[in-house]
Amino acid sequence: MVKETKLYDVLGVSPDATEQQLKTAYRKGALKHHPDKNAHDPAAAEKFKEISHAYEVLNDSQKRQIYDTYGEEGLEQGGGGGGGMGAEDLFAQFFGGGGAGPFGGMGGMFGGGGREQGPKKARTIHHVHKVSLEDIYRGKVSKLALQKSIICNKCDGRGGKEGAVKTCTGCNGAGMKMMMRQMGPMIQRFQTVCPDCNGEGEIVREKDKCKQCNGKKTVIERKVLHVHVDRGVQSGTKIDFRGEGDQMPGVQPGDVQFEIEQKAHPRFQRKGDDLFYAAEIDLLTALAGGAIYIEHLDDRWLTVEIMPGEVIAPGEIKIIRGQGMPSHRHHDFGNLYVKFDVKFPERLHGPPDADGYPTSLTPQQVQALESVLPPRAPQNIPPPNAMTDDYQLEKVDPTREGDRAARATDEDDEEMHGGGERVQCASQ
Ligand SMILES: [Zn+2]
Ligand SMILES: [Zn+2]
Repeated sequence: MVKETKLYDVLGVSPDATEQQLKTAYRKGALKHHPDKNAHDPAAAEKFKEISHAYEVLNDSQKRQIYDTYGEEGLEQGGGGGGGMGAEDLFAQFFGGGGAGPFGGMGGMFGGGGREQGPKKARTIHHVHKVSLEDIYRGKVSKLALQKSIICNKCDGRGGKEGAVKTCTGCNGAGMKMMMRQMGPMIQRFQTVCPDCNGEGEIVREKDKCKQCNGKKTVIERKVLHVHVDRGVQSGTKIDFRGEGDQMPGVQPGDVQFEIEQKAHPRFQRKGDDLFYAAEIDLLTALAGGAIYIEHLDDRWLTVEIMPGEVIAPGEIKIIRGQGMPSHRHHDFGNLYVKFDVKFPERLHGPPDADGYPTSLTPQQVQALESVLPPRAPQNIPPPNAMTDDYQLEKVDPTREGDRAARATDEDDEEMHGGGERVQCASQ
């Protein structure tokens, strides 16, 4: 006879319910009233808490005894035994709430206890297939060899003569068995590798073992797979070979997955279907025209004319349409972007003097330049009444002023001056 039945009523069971009946009642009630499923019904949240509380008490044999004898009053006086867990925590613990939330894996919860649904499958073999940009541009078929386990054909995957391989009676072929252990007042159940068969699940005498696979049921085979590297395929694309992975008895063969990884290219950088190319040209070509040549990915050379007077500025980017990568999905091509670096001459010279030494520019040469270039546009012109002095530009002597000039032009350029000099300036 129990003092009150409220908690039993909440779960919809009788006071003599078994542990299993309580569990089933909680599972049904908690799923039905879980707030995630009843967003528009505040009463459900309340009910969910009540169910959780009832189960938490009744599932604990000590608490259940107190409740049966003294009712809820008795529980409160008992101090709650360290405070009950929250309804959501209990729910998560009960349903093994993983990252996806308790409702994410509901199928698995009732699937008979196992987390793995469907037939077991051997692991997937992953392999990174590095491909040159040339090969991606043209497309190719790579023949790749891999080692894999296949079912031994001599014993058909039994591991021994027909009838010689027996299921282990110690574990019923599971390889694992449950053991019980008394730990003070509690009985602990734990799983361990079956000692009779060392986890194999089967027992076979040494002399009956298959000679070809030595009882392992599988042998290693070399297999060549043809991996299609499609024109324009993106780096990171995965190509699956279903069932081409390892074979094992009683298990679905695994898959093989190749991931295409594009190797870095010495001339081109790739972004999507576009190619980027850095071209260095001289100042004369940049100003007065000329040709540049770009070796493409399929042995073609692109000739690009720069028109006289077109003027290519340092860092300027131009586009050559349709000369990028073939588009994997559409039947067209990306673009080729050319970024120009203009190499300036050390200095300009006039005609050589009588001894063959270079002279400075002649007035006519300066005039010729002035006639085609935009006029001089000096910056920071001093006001009319300012005091001005004339100065000369000299070449920087690296042995004398290199350190200071380097500091003035580029703080981070380590190559301009050795590390020793750096330490020196730090100590000044
Ligand atoms: Zn066993
Ligand atoms: Zn065999």
